[in-house]
Amino acid sequence: MKSRLQVMKFGGTSVGDASCITRAAQIVAAAARNTPCVAVVSAMSGVTNRLIEAAKAAQTGDHGAAFAVFDQLRAQHDAALTSLIPDEERRLPIRQRMEEVFAEGRRLCEGTALLRELTPRALDAISSLGERLSAPMVAGAVRELDLQSEAVEATQLIITDGFHGGAEPDMGLTRDASQARLRPLLDAGVVPIVTGFIGATPAGQLTTLGRGGSDYSATILGAALDAEEVIIWTDVDGVLTADPRLVPQARTIPVISYREAAELAYFGARVLHPKTLRPVIQAAIPVWIRNSFAPERLGTKITPEGQSTGGGVKALTAIRDVTLISLGGPGIVGLPDVVGRTFSTTADVRANVLLISQSSSQNDICFIVSSADAQRTVEALRKEFSQDLAHQKVEHINVDPTIAIVAVVGENMRGIPGIAGKTFSVLGDQHVNIIAIAQGSSESNISFVIEEKDVKTALLTAHREFGLDVSPS
Ligand code: ASP
Ligand code: MG
Repeated sequence: MKSRLQVMKFGGTSVGDASCITRAAQIVAAAARNTPCVAVVSAMSGVTNRLIEAAKAAQTGDHGAAFAVFDQLRAQHDAALTSLIPDEERRLPIRQRMEEVFAEGRRLCEGTALLRELTPRALDAISSLGERLSAPMVAGAVRELDLQSEAVEATQLIITDGFHGGAEPDMGLTRDASQARLRPLLDAGVVPIVTGFIGATPAGQLTTLGRGGSDYSATILGAALDAEEVIIWTDVDGVLTADPRLVPQARTIPVISYREAAELAYFGARVLHPKTLRPVIQAAIPVWIRNSFAPERLGTKITPEGQSTGGGVKALTAIRDVTLISLGGPGIVGLPDVVGRTFSTTADVRANVLLISQSSSQNDICFIVSSADAQRTVEALRKEFSQDLAHQKVEHINVDPTIAIVAVVGENMRGIPGIAGKTFSVLGDQHVNIIAIAQGSSESNISFVIEEKDVKTALLTAHREFGLDVSPS
């Protein structure tokens, strides 16, 4: 049973400085006056990156450089805090709390510098400091608006496995812990402000959910508390039909399905952490994406079934930092196990494979990885196939970094014939050469590989062709 409860999350830019925090606090307060509300907050924007730099500096033995980062972060947080809470007496307990967090950071960096070793555990502890600084500040800002509010560390709520840097929640334990800690606050009319991004193992060891993980924190808590809805407040108007920097006609999509949103998140639309929707699928909790800088706009609502629009295509997305690797030549026909060996090699080097295509003549296998993974993937493949290359059974392993993937996403494309055909014929008209194509059997995504220089033309053309420029009635 869902309860009358909202979980809302504010990303780094939405709490980026004092005026952003005030805006966020006003949004929280307006909601909390009508319905019980839990807010999840990220670190102020850029802070997590700086903390990771501090950790890396400490690893080289340079704890001085790490401390310099802390001094800078202290000045930044102090300035925001002073402007948010002019009254010294009300400010003091928050400043003390922040000092404790900084002291912990210094100790962690000292230890790291001494050992010249940055363990995944220490890196998690250091990178979590930003959220532990922002949450007390946001709670203070909400109190300034005459509401009761308290910062809560998610180590008490989100119970995870011990996979540092990308921990997974245990939903049963998380539900028990969250209900036990947050219900009494909510019942007493207190708005909890929870640190995003972090959790803890059952033994209490701090973990993080991965970069950008505060979205995930919000939906984990939404599911754990049986929330009515989750609202992700960010700095864009929701999920758009395409990247507005490339397609000026891009529009906000009012309603989109879980599956469509997940495809877009996976394919680099960067609005949501890719795992965000997992926790809410079972309970069918809607997730909103809204702009904290323009709260009067409705944003995008992500629901289980979405909403059908005209031609079935909902949005376009492109990923650019990718590299095409192809392996083949006529000699690989019939060579047993080439596919298996290729992908066990990519798995061994933990390359993220985004798209695979093989012609039925078996002359060529090509696949796409993130450019960051390309070099180690190719080296590993050359090693794996060194004998075959020497005997020319495999003729080449080629690398092409000048390509990009464009994905056409829409759940209702399923069963509508001709979308792929239409896409390729309009792109052909614009002289965009298609290098490879893949369509998942779910038919909610058609992806194709083109030259990077053609991305803008491809997006503009397809956007127009599928009527995405025009707002749905
Ligand atoms: N602060 C964390 C990061 O920058 C988590 C988040 O912002 O979602 O990755
Ligand atoms: Mg983020």
